[in-house]
Amino acid sequence: MFEAVLYFCTMANQDDQFKKVISHAKEYGYVFQSSEIYDGLSAVYDYAQNGAELKKNIRDYWWRAMVQMNDNIVGIDAAIFMHPTTWKASGHVDAFNDPLIDNKDSKKRYRADVLIEDYCAKIEAKIDKEVDKAAKRFGDAFNKEEFISTNGRVLGYQEKINTTLSRMAKSLENEDLADVKALIEELEIADPLTGSRNWTEVKQFNLMFGTKLGASAENAMDLYLRPETAQGIFVNFLNVQKTSRLKIPFGIAQTGKAFRNEIVARQFIFRMREFEQMEMQFFIKPGTQAKWYEHWKETRMKWHLSLGMGAENYRFHDHEKLAHYADAAADIEFKFPFGFKELEGIHSRTDFDLSQHEKFSGKKLQYFDPEENKSYVPYVLETSIGLDRMFLAVFSNSLVEEELENGTTRTVLKLPSVLAPVKAAVLPLVKKDGLPEVARKIVDELKWDFNVDYDEKDAVGRRYRRQDANGTPFCITVDHDTLEDNTVTIRHRDTMEQERVKIDDLRDLIKKEVDVRSWLMKM
Ligand code: ATP
Repeated sequence: MFEAVLYFCTMANQDDQFKKVISHAKEYGYVFQSSEIYDGLSAVYDYAQNGAELKKNIRDYWWRAMVQMNDNIVGIDAAIFMHPTTWKASGHVDAFNDPLIDNKDSKKRYRADVLIEDYCAKIEAKIDKEVDKAAKRFGDAFNKEEFISTNGRVLGYQEKINTTLSRMAKSLENEDLADVKALIEELEIADPLTGSRNWTEVKQFNLMFGTKLGASAENAMDLYLRPETAQGIFVNFLNVQKTSRLKIPFGIAQTGKAFRNEIVARQFIFRMREFEQMEMQFFIKPGTQAKWYEHWKETRMKWHLSLGMGAENYRFHDHEKLAHYADAAADIEFKFPFGFKELEGIHSRTDFDLSQHEKFSGKKLQYFDPEENKSYVPYVLETSIGLDRMFLAVFSNSLVEEELENGTTRTVLKLPSVLAPVKAAVLPLVKKDGLPEVARKIVDELKWDFNVDYDEKDAVGRRYRRQDANGTPFCITVDHDTLEDNTVTIRHRDTMEQERVKIDDLRDLIKKEVDVRSWLMKM
């Protein structure tokens, strides 16, 4: 019965792989287009029966690591609607803009900064190619750092990237949109879909969605749907500090929906108009931000690595262009099917937000430091990750096709078992002889601890394949021997190994593999 894996099939190309991810997400009940029967709504998605579980498990994995495991971090759940002055104070009304550019021929709209960044990513791919070539040529003697810092061609590429990005950063900072357009023209950047270079001027576009509160048109108040969860934390800073009696340094975490009217939203759940964030604001003494910045960069990377999705798939990207509130910022980038892209941001936000809220509300938002014997506006270190982007990272990284020794292939979703929606499927070998009853009893017992499935349709081999594609870490098969000796076969998704175990041992065996504790201990 044991089926050995021969080798991994690499997927044809990035585009194909991404298409496969999207169709698998639909076919197996993870993600659906919102309002599909009305032809959908652009960049809005619904999570289906398995997707909702996976998303909940990711959120829980984050919350446990952030809130439960840290004595000095508490969690809140602020409302999506906030007083409109919040967004004046935070700078979103005036500065939460993306530079957009239209192509006159294709009528497609792009983010000007993304076009330039994609241009640089292509040069970076050339550097990677040079490195790969050299690594093959020099074999064991190859020293990557030395090669990158001395090879003329690589240095030339790097110089081009640096000058391009710093010019763009400067122009955006100075609101010199004409220069952003000039840069696009000088670099001869073309519409990625049509190749046309017939561009409009670059314009700023505010990303916030507006709405109204109130029953009558005259009295209605203009509101925004929050574009980030962070401000709900800042405006509650003093309430939380006083009621929790936490001392600096301490953090406030929250997860919740955010809304952005994104200009370009073509990458499935990577860039949505309604999405969910998991944010933590860490309040610190002014002057200590460099230390805490390093601390949170390292801690967050460890959290990612604990999921075992391959260290080579992550990298830091330090920002050239800093947001209006930040004195340092880095992204944790992940290798999505379409290349390395931002997954999480770590931002040193200074005292910008609290000071602004002091100014606009007229209320003091200060902390009395008993050690210093004085009050001050704390500095803030932020970690901010998109739950949907994390979902995409986990899902796309887990989807593989394997060729088996017997010449067949299997599609398997190798989700980290701690995140898998269904932890085990219980399968009676046949639909008679009392086997379904025993299988149902096992389900009834296990469901107190885990999300489990019962599946009796089709031959057992097909059921294994279905559970593999669904990402279920364990299949438990009940056969005629079970009736004699109370043992079952348990099959492991990734290795396809099978072992015979007592029904009474199932709970502990599954728990050992899927328990949050054993995964978070790897941090
Ligand atoms: P990007 O540069 O990709 O637009 P950002 O730098 O504006 O992202 P932040 O404001 O730092 O993003 O938000 C923090 C996190 O929220 C991001 O790292 C990302 O994971 C997530 N996020 C931001 N915008 C979206 C979106 N439109 N859809 C899904 N997730 C998003």
